[in-house]
Amino acid sequence: MTPQSSTAWHALEAQAALAQLDSSHQGLTDREAARRLAKFGPNEMVGRKAIPAWRRFLRHFSDPLIAFLLSAAVIAFSLGHLTDAIVITLVVIINAVVGFVQEGRAEQALAALRSMIAPQAHVLRDGKRRDLAVAELVPGDIISLEAGDRVPADARILRARNILVDESVLTGKSVATQKSETPDPVCTGMADRASILYSSTFVVAGQATAVVVATGMATQIGQIGSLLDTVRSVSTPLLQQIATFGRRFTAFALVAAVVLFIFAATLRDYAWLDALMVVVALAVGVVPESLPAVITITLAIGVRRMAARQAIVRRLPAVETLGATTVICSDKTGTLTRNEMTAHSVVTTAGTTTASGTGYAPLGELAHSGDDALAGAQRVATIGLLCNDAQLRLAAGEWRVDGDPMEGALIALAIKVGLDAESLLADAPRIDEIPFDAQHRYMATLHACTDGSALICVKGAPENLLSLSRLQSGETPAGQTLDLLLWDQAIVRAGEQGERVLGFATRRLDSTPHSLEVSDVAALTFEGIVGFIDPPREEAILAVAQCHCAGIDVKMITGDHAATAAAIALQLRLAEHPKVVTGAELETVTDGELVRLAREANVFARATPEHKLRLVRALQAAGETVAMTGDGVNDAPALKQADIGVAMGRKGTEAAKQASGMVLADDNFASIAAAVYEGRAVYDNIRKVIAWTLPTNIGEALAVITALMLGSALPMTPAQILWINMVLTITLGLVLAFEPPEPDIMQRSPRRRNAQLLSPFMLWRIALVSLIFTVAASAIFAWAMHRGQDLATARTMVVNAFCVMEIFYLFSVRYLRMRAFTLQGLRGTPAVLGAIAAVTIAQFAFTYHPWMQAVFDTRPIALLDGLVILMTGVIMMLILELEKLLLRKLGIFEELRCVPGSRSGRAGQSRVRANP
Ligand code: ATP
Repeated sequence: MTPQSSTAWHALEAQAALAQLDSSHQGLTDREAARRLAKFGPNEMVGRKAIPAWRRFLRHFSDPLIAFLLSAAVIAFSLGHLTDAIVITLVVIINAVVGFVQEGRAEQALAALRSMIAPQAHVLRDGKRRDLAVAELVPGDIISLEAGDRVPADARILRARNILVDESVLTGKSVATQKSETPDPVCTGMADRASILYSSTFVVAGQATAVVVATGMATQIGQIGSLLDTVRSVSTPLLQQIATFGRRFTAFALVAAVVLFIFAATLRDYAWLDALMVVVALAVGVVPESLPAVITITLAIGVRRMAARQAIVRRLPAVETLGATTVICSDKTGTLTRNEMTAHSVVTTAGTTTASGTGYAPLGELAHSGDDALAGAQRVATIGLLCNDAQLRLAAGEWRVDGDPMEGALIALAIKVGLDAESLLADAPRIDEIPFDAQHRYMATLHACTDGSALICVKGAPENLLSLSRLQSGETPAGQTLDLLLWDQAIVRAGEQGERVLGFATRRLDSTPHSLEVSDVAALTFEGIVGFIDPPREEAILAVAQCHCAGIDVKMITGDHAATAAAIALQLRLAEHPKVVTGAELETVTDGELVRLAREANVFARATPEHKLRLVRALQAAGETVAMTGDGVNDAPALKQADIGVAMGRKGTEAAKQASGMVLADDNFASIAAAVYEGRAVYDNIRKVIAWTLPTNIGEALAVITALMLGSALPMTPAQILWINMVLTITLGLVLAFEPPEPDIMQRSPRRRNAQLLSPFMLWRIALVSLIFTVAASAIFAWAMHRGQDLATARTMVVNAFCVMEIFYLFSVRYLRMRAFTLQGLRGTPAVLGAIAAVTIAQFAFTYHPWMQAVFDTRPIALLDGLVILMTGVIMMLILELEKLLLRKLGIFEELRCVPGSRSGRAGQSRVRANP
């Protein structure tokens, strides 16, 4: 076999290419594929060399603040302050280790997610079609591609059907390229080769079968390496906002530190080295250097929790946006409903036949109005059987479908009405087909009949088929004039029962053409309709109620009929009286009118992907934050436009997934609601991390600055400041990243999208807590000195007071607005209790262990003093609980929207104030 790259595959005939690759139309055998995989390696892009761990570790020392600290350590060392030098160095190392570990965990979580959404390819091996991981493809594999697929490797087309490919990743061309199996002249440039499909490009329309000619780095894209730089960075708008804030805060702290140093050394009589050490320690203490890392962890944990609930986040910002979602626009079939179809009724001009039974089991009772009705049902079922790509199989006692569920249900129906599927398929072999697509909403197949004539079988949306029909089948073989009113009524009747309705039609041709064209699907004879039952998912009904409770509107956008969609909307309780708008109506309204209509309506029926895009835009223009689901290639623009595009993991195309911020592993609406829940929790936790980090840092700094200003003895030594900041605060604060959601999280209104993280409420809370820390620490210090304690003991008491207050504050901050002083609140979580235990042990060692006493210049504390210190924590907790009560009474917090489980839509309700 020829090596991957040197052959001019585009100039070879398809058959010659196959021969050169030692392959055939049946595909490779598994053994041969395994051999080639060993030879050519997996079909993967080898990314940029990973940065070695030691370099990633050292990166943590490049921070200006750390450089500042290290220089202080060097100065301290050179002046003989060994303890300070060692403590500062240790702190720097601990900080780097913590940062390194945190970064690693966040990266790991994201890498795991990336592998969860690894794409699959449809491959022919040993004559059987299989779905394989793209990485397993080898040269010589036969792949089939359809609209929405991403081309998994470079391949030579063997058979093309109107295939259009978007090659912009490779060539930058914005217009999709038409491809074909015809060889290109040898000299054709890479961008113009019509017979080659290039890895990583997208199939926009049509279908093709192709043989893989190059994989991995041997592909064009691999050689250019343009995809390698698209490794997604672990950043989000929120992280950037925090990073910017952190940088400004650091700059401010450093300038303030210099001013303070000059002030202390010149206007107050501190020795300049002492002043320098304190100021350095203060700067380190006040700068929230761990904030971005802890917030990244919070996001990563959110991402992991969402994945556990089947919502796989592809872009980190989606986690934040999810929490702000105000409208979810969802597909119906398979997302809100189960997509487990059972054909229930067949209506023809001769009467109605109903079939009982559940699932896909081809067993059930028939009820019909006479032999004619049954014969009519058999005619319709025959079309359903011929115009069908699915297969039914019995596995572990259960009937399952390979392929489209509706087509599976049609096979079951055919058997129920007494057809012999095998002989029918053998008697009318399929010559060609036009696959279903959401644009023309039908599927058609061409069959050769034993008498030399041909039959076109069509199934699809009944209105579309009716508009293509001239006659309907009736008493005479030639058929009778189409009775549109009759069918309209029948369709609406079935739709009102919540049945999904499919129409069936045929056309006879005297001779058999080689292929079937769209123009042949005309002048049809309408045969009848079938109603399918596709019940709503139980969990979707619950999730819809939950969304309403959380102030989120749910809208159904479906390709299905208005009557069916309305009935299902009612079952799902989307609204008391769901307002339905059809795609045809959408066509007639202006963009301005659409803004109003988009908000009012609950259901959009017979909607196309273009309608989805207009709807997203209209809703966004109305100020909504929109989550939109989609699966098809044409859904990609709407998915991109939405604030969060949500692609279906099972039935979604690769194009839809690529355009989305999130993929649903189970295609289930309930998973979107779960992701919103987790998204809200993440945002809450981020707020908690901030409400924790800033006041603890600021409070500590203010206590020292107050003393510096007054020219009194300092309440803490530099080493002690670093102890509080780097050991106590960071250990306790990390717990907040793991916080479970508060119970009322889905009873609040969505937060405003552009809401500032440091809202007036947050600023107030930070100021209040900082003040409590400062006042309490200064008071303890003054009290101890007043009682004649020595300076070292007074300082030890201050550090212990900080420790106690931080522990109490941790309990308080876990509930930003709710009472923390409850049984559940006091019980904490394993993470909370673990961190408190660790900090308590460390603090006891700090106070009583001789070695620590030598390092930190601490003294043992008497029991009575210990109790007084404990009281500072209790008083702090009480003040904060009182503050929450007061804010609740003053109505600063929004009222909860409803009690969980109850039904309350947003429609008709005035908007409640957004979260503070
Ligand atoms: P959703 O509710 O998720 O938008 P949908 O199945 O209702 O999905 P489409 O897939 O666009 O929407 O289908 C629209 C219509 O096309 C269906 O109501 C049905 O009448 C018809 N249809 C769907 N699948 C097929 C098929 N495999 N063959 C023929 N017609 C089909």
